[in-house]
Amino acid sequence: MPDVRETQGKTMGEGCVRAMAGATAIVLAAGQGKRMKSEVPKQFLELRGRPMLAHSLEVFQRSPLIQEIVLVTGQEDIPYCREKIVEAGGFTKVRAIVPGGQERYDSVYEGLRACGEACRWVFIHDGARPLVSEAILERAMAMVKERDACVVGMPVKDTIKIADADGSIQVTPDRSRVWMIQTPQVFRFQLVREAYSKLMALPPEARKGVTDDAMVVEQMLGRKVYLAEGSYSNIKITTPEDLAIAEVLLGEGER
Ligand code: C5P
Repeated sequence: MPDVRETQGKTMGEGCVRAMAGATAIVLAAGQGKRMKSEVPKQFLELRGRPMLAHSLEVFQRSPLIQEIVLVTGQEDIPYCREKIVEAGGFTKVRAIVPGGQERYDSVYEGLRACGEACRWVFIHDGARPLVSEAILERAMAMVKERDACVVGMPVKDTIKIADADGSIQVTPDRSRVWMIQTPQVFRFQLVREAYSKLMALPPEARKGVTDDAMVVEQMLGRKVYLAEGSYSNIKITTPEDLAIAEVLLGEGER
């Protein structure tokens, strides 16, 4: 296991990790998970006897499409992640563990800074989606090579309403065109790097409401982002009932 803090003689803080020409996965685990109402950050809660984050990392570790992994977590959780998750799990592709930021987009930006210029493709993944699969990575890779920017998602099953501030229904979008968006969100590295540089140059109030990476590419560069097929099992663990559902799905080998 290499010392994950150092790569090619430079320290992590310098954003120095040199990727092979290929794909890097940025796995995000710096959220506080307040909606889970748990003492432990949700990405470290156990599923089938292993931290949720380990299930996510395992898929990227196994996939031949991925050359290296940058793990983003809270500054205070770096030693735990290094010892109890990365080293204990044998995740040899993890080349850096970097501290994230206040908002998800801050954490993504830190992950991108750690990727280095040699990286061609980047898979940005929520560590709180332990049911991602190699098949999803393959579909996203095929799409990004053709289109430069894609996100995985699934058509919604329910009717969706846009509400007014008073709780009344304002509009009902055509369900056949509404997708729920998941991760990974996958981009040509230089493209997403440029989009995030532009975002971070904006004042903080102008960044409010940024919840995914596709938005950043759409809004900062005016580029189209395409949809690749995810899976209805690729849920994000947000509230306690999600944990129970994920336990069942993992038990059934449902990825
Ligand atoms: O909060 P939310 O569920 O949208 O978070 C999605 C993912 O982003 C989670 O894996 C979480 O750990 C990560 N995140 C992060 N840094 C933040 C906020 C969220 O890495 N500041």
